[in-house]
Amino acid sequence: MKQEKSTETNTYIVDGAYRLQYISQGLTRLFPEIKIGDTCYEKFRKRELPCRNCPLLHKNRKTDMFYNEDEQTWLKINAGEIQWPGAENCHVILTRDISEHDLDEMCRFVNMKKEILEKRNCTAVETDKLTGLFAREPFFRQTEAFLRINGIQGGEYCLVAIDIEHFKLFNEWYGQKAGDRLLGEIGSHLTRLRQESGGIAGYMGGDDFVIVLPNDKEMLESMKHQITGFVRAYGGHTGFLPAFGFYVIDDIWLSASQMYDRAILAQETVKGNYAVRSAYYSSDMKTRLENNHVLLAQVQAGLERDEFIYYLQPKCNLNTGKIVGLESLVRWKHPTKGIVAPGYFIPIMESNGLVTELDKKVWEQVCQTLQEWIRTGHKVIPISVNVSSVDIYAIDVVDYFKKLVHKYGLPPEYVELEITESAYVEEYKVITGIAEELRNAGFTVLMDDFGSGYSSLNMLKDVNVDVLKIDMKFLKMDENTMGKGMGILEAVTRMANIMGLRMIAEGVETEDQINYLLNMGCIYGQGYFFYKPLPIEEVKELLLDENNVDYRGIQARKIEHVRFKELFQSELASDGILNNILGPIAIYDVYNDNVELVQVNDKYCLLIGQDPVDLAENVQVLEEIHPEDRKKMQDIFRRSFQRLAEGAEGTVRRKRKDGQYMWIKIKAFFLREQDGHKTFYGAVRDMTHEMNQFQRMMNCRNEEK
Ligand code: C2E
Ligand code: CA
Ligand code: CA
Repeated sequence: MKQEKSTETNTYIVDGAYRLQYISQGLTRLFPEIKIGDTCYEKFRKRELPCRNCPLLHKNRKTDMFYNEDEQTWLKINAGEIQWPGAENCHVILTRDISEHDLDEMCRFVNMKKEILEKRNCTAVETDKLTGLFAREPFFRQTEAFLRINGIQGGEYCLVAIDIEHFKLFNEWYGQKAGDRLLGEIGSHLTRLRQESGGIAGYMGGDDFVIVLPNDKEMLESMKHQITGFVRAYGGHTGFLPAFGFYVIDDIWLSASQMYDRAILAQETVKGNYAVRSAYYSSDMKTRLENNHVLLAQVQAGLERDEFIYYLQPKCNLNTGKIVGLESLVRWKHPTKGIVAPGYFIPIMESNGLVTELDKKVWEQVCQTLQEWIRTGHKVIPISVNVSSVDIYAIDVVDYFKKLVHKYGLPPEYVELEITESAYVEEYKVITGIAEELRNAGFTVLMDDFGSGYSSLNMLKDVNVDVLKIDMKFLKMDENTMGKGMGILEAVTRMANIMGLRMIAEGVETEDQINYLLNMGCIYGQGYFFYKPLPIEEVKELLLDENNVDYRGIQARKIEHVRFKELFQSELASDGILNNILGPIAIYDVYNDNVELVQVNDKYCLLIGQDPVDLAENVQVLEEIHPEDRKKMQDIFRRSFQRLAEGAEGTVRRKRKDGQYMWIKIKAFFLREQDGHKTFYGAVRDMTHEMNQFQRMMNCRNEEK
């Protein structure tokens, strides 16, 4: 695990003549004699000429890393153009000393550079082996040559950046081989397209492709559909979808890497958006990027002036409206803009790494509040804090939180950590490990935005968090998307309930939503219907009245299913209502060629017409299935394992108590795999009536013939 480190970022602004226009406090501490108007390289590095790597000399290089020989330190540099009053051609530069920590990052970067240099020097290896396409540098060179030699006019061609989001996860699920096959397939397709229509195609590494094609809407659309088709075919319906960024080459004299940057800028606007998968570059995207640099400098100043505070939003029991917990949400108390919400500044702070400095301040403030409440004799409920995935890589989060609660003398169960689902998707193993360590240390871990990304159902199988926080997207469905979203959500809540996972829904705004959630088996929620995020003082008032609070917190919903082991020991009280909602369900254990019943609920027993004691004697389900349908039954499980998000269904004949066969329809979802045993959840329906009718109809037809 990495050590805690000083991630202080230093900021300065220079004009076109390298004169300093702004210096952050951190830098003033390091260089006490420095003042506005000084020449940066003279003062910082005691040089007579600008540094070799100066971002001002390499206009399209926005980030770099270099070794400062004088200080023997590694610096990471982010730079961008900025408008600054009273000065021309200004750049804002952010530097961070990464010598002691981001070693991995440094190695990666140095290797990457080596690779690029090697590629540049070695003309023989122009194409990538896996995909048969031009590698990065050759692609840039070829594109520039192609456009200029052929006298292409602005607007005639389009450069498309293609990214398969979450490809890492694809490899993890389907194996490296399948991943490579998919990349190869996309490579061959792009090659074909390039040959047919004239253009250049490249593979930028990882899951990034690029192609230059005639700016023909139809052709571009068809390319998009075909690539999407490939990825779908490989990933089933698990949600792997490529993202496309288009740049219509209006200025053929831009460097190809600048063109690519623009396509990427467009692509970034659709990443994480599951409805829209492509976007065209527009000049306002560039403006936005430039504005981001200005914002970053302001945020940095705000951090130094301690302008960040936090609000608290209660989490409630949906039945009673009582408060079961609180979440801290950061706010910027801006000197002119007033209270600013985090959507405005968190994303850019995350991309820069600055978010960790902010988060540490918030976490500290939260602990201070808890300590004060305890000290003044308040009855306390837990507060959750948001942890960005950036934090997890920047610092040793487990160690940090242990020290923090120790410093404030708090029991760890008062501090809960919300880690967003996308973090799990990106780096599954790392985050799962950290969640485990946190839980071992007594903290509660929530998976935030659950269901917003991919793989939700699959992830449930070995998820190791305490609470699932269901993304508000599910409650904000419009009429068209409603059915699908609700279906997924229902499956998720059922399974979470079966597995005894706790859960809470966010973004609860209406009574209808509350009823819907309750019906489904989710009994906790957070949202404007109950409370908006509130200043701490207001929450303190609320908590003073103990009637407002349910100190038991968020608990798991007990589901009524019959465990065979327990059956013989006690009479189980059955929860009729829950049974009605769920319908007949069974949990199956599938191994080798066996299908075994693990758990069923009362409704299932009723449907099959056997009491639980009988069922317990006949757990080998296949023996109860009509011999002609046994393969079909196994096939249902096989398919539902392949289609994690949707599950699979099929209708088979099953023996009833009286020895007669009945038709049952099973909809199965894969839950988990352990030691060669796969566990499935199955919702079961009696189809005998329908099937008999169908059979009669077929018989009539045959007779007519
Ligand atoms: P989140 O963690 O998913 O927080 C939920 C967001 O939904 C909050 O927005 C909250 O104010 C808002 N919200 C709550 N109830 C409702 C509702 O009924 N309807 C609607 N439409 N919205 C509701 P907020 O405070 O603007 O925070 C946005 C995001 O910023 C958070 O999403 C979280 O990802 C991030 N964030 C907030 N505070 C911090 C922090 O201290 N550190 C980090 N790293 N991220 C933070
Ligand atoms: Ca949250
Ligand atoms: Ca959330």
